[in-house]
Amino acid sequence: MFENLSDRLGGVFDRLTKQGALTEDDVTAAMREVRVALLEADVSLPVARSFVKTVTSKATGASVTKSITPGQQVVKIVHDELIKVLQGDDAPDALRIDNPPAPILMVGLQGSGKTTTTAKLALRLKEREKKRVLMASLDTNRPAAMEQLAILGQQIGVDTLPIVPGQTATQIAQRAKQQASLGGYDVYMLDTAGRLHIDQVLMDEVQAVRDIAQPRETLLVVDGLTGQDAVNVATEFDEKVGVSGVVLTRMDGDGRGGAALSMRAVTGKPIRFVGLGEKMDALEGFDAQRIAGRILGMGDIVALVEKAQEVLEVEQAERMMKRFQKGLFNMNDLKGQLEQMQKMGGMGSIMQMMPGMQKMAKQAEAAGMDDSAVRRQIALINSMTKKERANPDMLQASRKKRIAAGAGMEVSELNRLLKMQKQMADTMKKLGKMGKGGMLKQAMR
Ligand code: GDP
Repeated sequence: MFENLSDRLGGVFDRLTKQGALTEDDVTAAMREVRVALLEADVSLPVARSFVKTVTSKATGASVTKSITPGQQVVKIVHDELIKVLQGDDAPDALRIDNPPAPILMVGLQGSGKTTTTAKLALRLKEREKKRVLMASLDTNRPAAMEQLAILGQQIGVDTLPIVPGQTATQIAQRAKQQASLGGYDVYMLDTAGRLHIDQVLMDEVQAVRDIAQPRETLLVVDGLTGQDAVNVATEFDEKVGVSGVVLTRMDGDGRGGAALSMRAVTGKPIRFVGLGEKMDALEGFDAQRIAGRILGMGDIVALVEKAQEVLEVEQAERMMKRFQKGLFNMNDLKGQLEQMQKMGGMGSIMQMMPGMQKMAKQAEAAGMDDSAVRRQIALINSMTKKERANPDMLQASRKKRIAAGAGMEVSELNRLLKMQKQMADTMKKLGKMGKGGMLKQAMR
C-alpha cells in the first residue's frame, strides 16, 4: 500500500534507531529526510511541513534525548503523529444509516471505482450489519454503467432498482426513494454519474439528486493513486455538494499513498473506507492505527517501545548504565541482560534498544544465541557462586568443571559464555573511556 514511502521512512528510522544517543541535529537531519519522503509520496506541502515541524519539536524535547531509547521514541512520535494526521482528532463515527430507508449518495469522477465501491459497501452492509440494501445507478449517460451495477448486484445478492430507459437522474432517485420505502429496505444507495472532470452539469445533477434524497451520508470515491489530485477533487466536491466521508480506492497498489495522508488535513473530511482490490470483499474500514503501522512498516518497533516502557524501569536501566560507564560488566550484569532479553521475548531486542549496546547484541547474535541458548547461559550463571559471578576472572579449571557439571553442560559451553562476558566487559570499558562525548555519557544526560 505504501511501499515507497514505507521504504524511505524505514531507511531513515533504521539509521536513527541504530544510533545510541541522539542530538538535536540527528533528529533535524532525519526529519529533513522524512519531509522529502512525504513529498515524494505526494503528500501536500503544507501537510508535510506541519507534520515535520510537530514531530521535530516533540522529538527534540528532553524526555526523548534523555531517554534510554531515543531513536525508537522518535519512531513512536512519528507513528502517533501519523495517526493524528490520518484521522484528525477523533475517529469517525459509524455510518449514519439508522432511520430506514437511509439514503447513501455515492459521488466521484468516472473511473474512480465508484460503481465497484457502491457494490462492495452494499455487500458489507448486508453481511456485517444485516441490512437490506437497494442500489440504483443514476448514470443515464452510460447504460453500460447501469448494467454493471445490476450484474454486481446479482453477484453479491443485493437488489438493484430495475432499469427504466429514458428516465433522468432525478427521476431515478425519486423512484429509488419510493421503492426503498415500499420495499422495506434499510438503506438505499445512489450511484451517481461520473465525469472525467468536474464540470457544472455534473455538479448541478448531483445537487438535484441530493436535494431529493437528502442523504444521510455522501461518500466521495477517489482514486488513491492520484495523490494530491484526489485531495483536490475532494475539496471541490465538498464545496459543491457537501461530502460526509471519503473512500480511497486502489490502495492495493504500491502507489505513493500521499492522498491518505493529506486528505483529512486538507479537506477536513474523514476517510471512511479504503478499496484494496477489484473483488467484492476488497473494502476495508479505515483504521488510522493500522495504516500508520503500514506506512512505517515498523509496528514491531512501536510495540516494542511500549513494551519496553513497561518492562524496563528507567531507574533500573540508569543504575545499570552507571555501572557500564565505569566499565563494570560481570556475570550478574550479563545475567540481567539475558533475563531482560527473555522478558522482551526476543533475542537482542532490548540490547538493540539500549544506547551503545547494538554492538553487543550483534556479537551475541553472531555467537548464535537464540532463546534456548539464553536459557542455558542463565543456567550456567546460576550454577556459579556469588563470588564467582562478581569476579568471573577467578574461574580456574576446577571451578569451571564444577559449574558446568552443576548446569549439566560442557566446560566448552562455559568457556564460550566467559568469552562473551569478557568481550562485553571490554566493549563497556571502551565506551566508558570515550569520556564526556562518549555514547554512554551522552545517553545519561
Ligand atoms: P467508476 O467509473 O467510478 O464507477 O469505476 P468502476 O467502479 O467501474 O471501477 C473502474 C475499475 O477500477 C474497475 O476495473 C474496478 O475493478 C477497478 N477498481 C475499483 N476499485 C478498486 C480498488 O480498490 N483496487 C483496484 N485494484 N481496482 C479497483
